[in-house]
Amino acid sequence: MPTPKPWTVDDSAELYSLPGWGLNYFGVNAKGHVTLQPKRVPEGAVDVMDVVEAVTARGIKMPVLVRFHDVLRRRVTVLNEAFSEAIAEHGYGGRFFGVYPIKVNQLREVVEEIADAGRPFQYGLEAGSKGELMAVIAMNTSEALTIVNGYKDESIMRLAALGLKLGRRVLVVIEKLSELDLLLKAAREAGVKPLIGVRVKLQTQGSGKWRSSTGHYAKFGLTTPEILGLVERLRAEGLTDCLKLVHFHIGSQVCDIRTVKDAVKEGARYYAKLRKMGLGVEYLDCGGGLGVDYDGTHTAVDSSMNYSLREYVSDVVYSAREVCRQENIPEPHLVTESGRSMVAHHALLVANVFGAIETGASPVDLRETPDEHQAVRELRETIKALAPKNLAESFHDGQQHLEEAFSLFKLGYLGLEDKAKVEHLYWRLCREIVTLLPKAKFVSEDLLEMQKSLNDQYLCNFSLFQSLPDSWAIGQLFPIMPLHRLDEEPVRRASVVDITCDSDGKITQFACHRKAGGTLPVHALDGKPYYLGFFLMGAYQATMGDIHNLFGRVNEVHVFRDEAEPKGFYIEETIPGQTIRDVLTGIQYSDFELVKMIKEAADAQVKAGALRHREAAELVDRYEAVLGEYTYVDHLPAADENHPRRRAGDSSALVPVSGLAAPVPSSASSEAATRTSVGIPNVLPQDLLRARENS
Ligand SMILES: *Cc1c(COP(=O)(O)O)cnc(C)c1O
Repeated sequence: MPTPKPWTVDDSAELYSLPGWGLNYFGVNAKGHVTLQPKRVPEGAVDVMDVVEAVTARGIKMPVLVRFHDVLRRRVTVLNEAFSEAIAEHGYGGRFFGVYPIKVNQLREVVEEIADAGRPFQYGLEAGSKGELMAVIAMNTSEALTIVNGYKDESIMRLAALGLKLGRRVLVVIEKLSELDLLLKAAREAGVKPLIGVRVKLQTQGSGKWRSSTGHYAKFGLTTPEILGLVERLRAEGLTDCLKLVHFHIGSQVCDIRTVKDAVKEGARYYAKLRKMGLGVEYLDCGGGLGVDYDGTHTAVDSSMNYSLREYVSDVVYSAREVCRQENIPEPHLVTESGRSMVAHHALLVANVFGAIETGASPVDLRETPDEHQAVRELRETIKALAPKNLAESFHDGQQHLEEAFSLFKLGYLGLEDKAKVEHLYWRLCREIVTLLPKAKFVSEDLLEMQKSLNDQYLCNFSLFQSLPDSWAIGQLFPIMPLHRLDEEPVRRASVVDITCDSDGKITQFACHRKAGGTLPVHALDGKPYYLGFFLMGAYQATMGDIHNLFGRVNEVHVFRDEAEPKGFYIEETIPGQTIRDVLTGIQYSDFELVKMIKEAADAQVKAGALRHREAAELVDRYEAVLGEYTYVDHLPAADENHPRRRAGDSSALVPVSGLAAPVPSSASSEAATRTSVGIPNVLPQDLLRARENS
């Protein structure tokens, strides 16, 4: 038999589609660890496990959000340079004045880093609400643009006028005709000339999840008659030179490049026609939408995109130029409001797996006994007779036995022990069927479904609702993969479940979907910490998360590369996550009152003679100490010390369990007897068959 090729770290990278979604910012090193490569080459890469080690050494608990500020800076540079190059290449007459919409990630450090990296390019900021404008107007420079989108009231218009007085280039984009009067009034009162933008409702249909952002029924933007209304109003006021910018936004995560070209052409026509009508328009603002390839497939599906950043930039420049040449007018300065593409890659959530839920696991010894119920005996028979040619038939028999046993139990004819045996044998049958699947000539759909249900659920120390809200809310896909052990073949298949008491807190869609049949390939837990990385978390997740189950904001560290450091990086800043006190206070509990109530309860016990004074005081102290703790699960080892199988230390007592869908590396067999994980004895197919012969 030919020996299989040994598993390599490149195989792991390929399996998790890392080259597809990582844009070369991430790699895998010879140790089998994920690396961060701000320069997009392996030289000088940061070993992410070194970061995890440094974080743990500082006593920072999991889960931790790691922000790589070099990547953030790099994205800003890449976008601005791409525009400069495309403008030069196409001989385009205007300049690029990009803005970052802070809605996508408002964290001060993130905005500061972007503003700083963008300074040489006069890269600006965009606000979509009063709160955001408060931040933007202070942080932006007067060289860059400040763009105000979203619905506006009088107060925000006065804030915009205040910005103009301070020398900021505040462009207010009119989304609704009635906003114009508010703006003109605020400007008049402040004694400044407003800078006006107009958001047009495009007919070009967007693509991707947010395709309904355009068209007649879109929430934002002016229709053509409304635009003419705006022009008339400006003429009446003698302010036609104040209309500076034409804006459109066709929705986020545009997955098809054709949509971008069409939209720019349509938007450029509005610019051209308004310009010819004598308005002072100088900027064409193409909004956001530049996508992120979350699944790494480079295709026009919601979780991906069929173009690169360079292609996008080149098409924007070229399309705008084409229209202006036809219309014979000067080319506008170009503005984009790319958010997602700027910030998605810089943030990585690290969480530890602290256990696994194994379908149909049995922690007690369920050996054959002479007095077993008929239902149990029949299932044993089915398992004994199992062969590659009768898999479907045996599976259906098993299902029937299981259902019959449930009915018998309901009617009182089956005891708990026999019911446990039936359930246990049913799952054993399923596992044995799965191991025989490769030998079967034909495999039916229901067997494949059953195979999926056998996958493990890896318990991961995070809250989907806090850290990946878009995964829960809109089924957004984020790349997930182990951060280490990538020199080892990940032979188990799992879904990922969080620690909330919510069955929605589960991830069953993965970037490596097609290759692994809707599951995440993972390594068997070996009693040592096992870390999963959730990638491309930088966009939209920072402020949309909630405290479901009172799991609060997570610990955050900000990492910079530094070649002078022994490990090639340093942690610039740590932002502690919320404590239990923080989340309780946020929903109106007073920590003082809570402690008082506990004191009263303790005093009552003392009075009743159930507690001594010292014990009561200790209980109150303990309660108080927990208020200062992190909200997440606080134990790292991936194995459960108290698990009966682990304590038994006797592999012969193990219930044969497999569910392995992939071939097992030969090295695993020698370890199988000693390596025990929570609920997952490493029993190989051969062992399984042997066990069957013995039974
Ligand atoms: C949300 C939004 C953006 C950012 O879009 P991305 O797809 O994240 O680049 C830009 N402009 C406007 C008006 C928005 O509402």
